[in-house]
Amino acid sequence: MIDVLVIGGGNAALCAALMAREAGASVLLLEAAPREWRGGNSQHTRNLRCMHDAPQDVLIEAYPEEEYWQDLLKVTGGQTDERLARLAIRASSTCRDWMRGHGVHFQPPLSGALHVARTNAFFMGGGKALVNAYFRSAEALGVQVRYNVPVDAIEMDGDRFKAARIGSERIEARSCVLAAGGFESNREWLREAWGQNADGDWPADNFLIRGTRFNMGVLLKFMIEAGADAIGDPSQSHCVAIDARAPLYDGGICTRVDCVSLGVMLNRNAERFYDEGEDFWPKRYAIWGRLVAQQPGQIGYSIIDAKAVGRFMPPVFPGMRANTLAELARQLGLDEATFVRTIEDYNAACRVGTFDHTVLDDCHTEGIAPAKTHWARPIDTAPFFGYALRPGITFTYLGLKVNEHAAVHFGGKPSANLFVAGEMMAGNVLGKGYTAGVGMAIGTAFGRIAGTQAAAAALRRPGHDAFQEKQHATS
Ligand SMILES: Cc1cc2nc3c(=O)[nH]c(=O)nc-3n(C[C@H](O)[C@H](O)[C@H](O)COP(=O)(O)OP(=O)(O)OC[C@H]3O[C@@H](n4cnc5c(N)ncnc54)[C@H](O)[C@@H]3O)c2cc1C
Repeated sequence: MIDVLVIGGGNAALCAALMAREAGASVLLLEAAPREWRGGNSQHTRNLRCMHDAPQDVLIEAYPEEEYWQDLLKVTGGQTDERLARLAIRASSTCRDWMRGHGVHFQPPLSGALHVARTNAFFMGGGKALVNAYFRSAEALGVQVRYNVPVDAIEMDGDRFKAARIGSERIEARSCVLAAGGFESNREWLREAWGQNADGDWPADNFLIRGTRFNMGVLLKFMIEAGADAIGDPSQSHCVAIDARAPLYDGGICTRVDCVSLGVMLNRNAERFYDEGEDFWPKRYAIWGRLVAQQPGQIGYSIIDAKAVGRFMPPVFPGMRANTLAELARQLGLDEATFVRTIEDYNAACRVGTFDHTVLDDCHTEGIAPAKTHWARPIDTAPFFGYALRPGITFTYLGLKVNEHAAVHFGGKPSANLFVAGEMMAGNVLGKGYTAGVGMAIGTAFGRIAGTQAAAAALRRPGHDAFQEKQHATS
């Protein structure tokens, strides 16, 4: 019988598999996707948010634990477990050497308008290179990997894991790590979670899924129905406003449009609906999907002028471009008169001080609602640009409740041999909101913990006492 069964093929699963194998366990990893689509949402990532008290290899200045924690506290509005959050934060300061040991490379610090050279370490080659490196390392260490195996059921004996099932096939193991993502790819479940709004729309029908099509939440649902303790609200997720032309799945990072804070955002009625300059974009980009989802028809329009060009990461696909506001309104299919009036009202309300997109500057509006509190400058310089945006769901926050050992809980009691990591438990730390790079920080920290714990649980049997002692001595 295999020691540790890991279910999933993304960052959390791979971290767990590598740690369990390094601890001496035999490991089998089951990935639902075919080999060419392996790596879940992790293949689309770019960076990891890292705590550090002084400049560290690719990170400039310092990003101490307390600041990281305060950032998380702010975006989650307190809906977070401080103990688990701090555990992930601390682990983010020490994991990069281990990652490098498994073939992950980091880029030199970025400069410019991204604000993240201090807080986030970027993967060379992105998440695809990271998961490829981990798969290579795992296979070199003897982890068995199977593709095209969507696990559909888990067999338990009380709160102990017994076996995983894929149709009629049954795979037993001494312990198991669940790392099969959230339920963001399951459109029916999203529809149910978001429900119907007052206009009779089903908002989730207009969502695009930014990542993998394989995170259907089958095991999340199965475990909750089997009595595992759940955490989080099914309608909470990381949801970004992305290019409305994106494909239904796997549009990834190239569908991002990052100019919202430099202009205004309008809805289908050509009206503004939220403060575009509330905070730095990396701290705010993940609220805009939800905001657009609450607008009629679940569509928004980001409008900028020539002054904004060059101040944000240019979108891969060009937006609409026009020499007058009226022409832009026509191109976007918005009511021309309302569009022009909205922009003119906004322009008249701008109180321009010293524009600086790298700080929370003093350019703001007065006398309009909603206000724009920073980076408010009139949209008055041709050419004008507009991007239609739709809610792009990144990952859901409903998850399984864990303790600091990543154990799945049943009625408040931790399982001795079933663990969970990544999106399947991110809701313990992220009740709502997001700050860039935290998904990979949670997955890396808890994937590594889950793998270590699963190995210990599997090897805690006659003939393996020495291992157990070693684990205790080093934990
Ligand atoms: C476009 C995009 C960009 C992102 N950028 C960043 C970033 O830069 N930094 C950051 O921190 N986070 C980012 N995220 C979020 C990040 O991807 C997740 O937080 C993280 O990858 C989650 O890792 P995971 O291993 O839990 O899930 P995943 O990587 O999604 O892996 C889940 C795995 O489980 C498999 N699976 C699902 N169901 C089953 C089943 N029943 N049986 C077997 N296998 C199954 C899937 O095929 C997949 O391999 C981004 C997400 C997207 C979509």
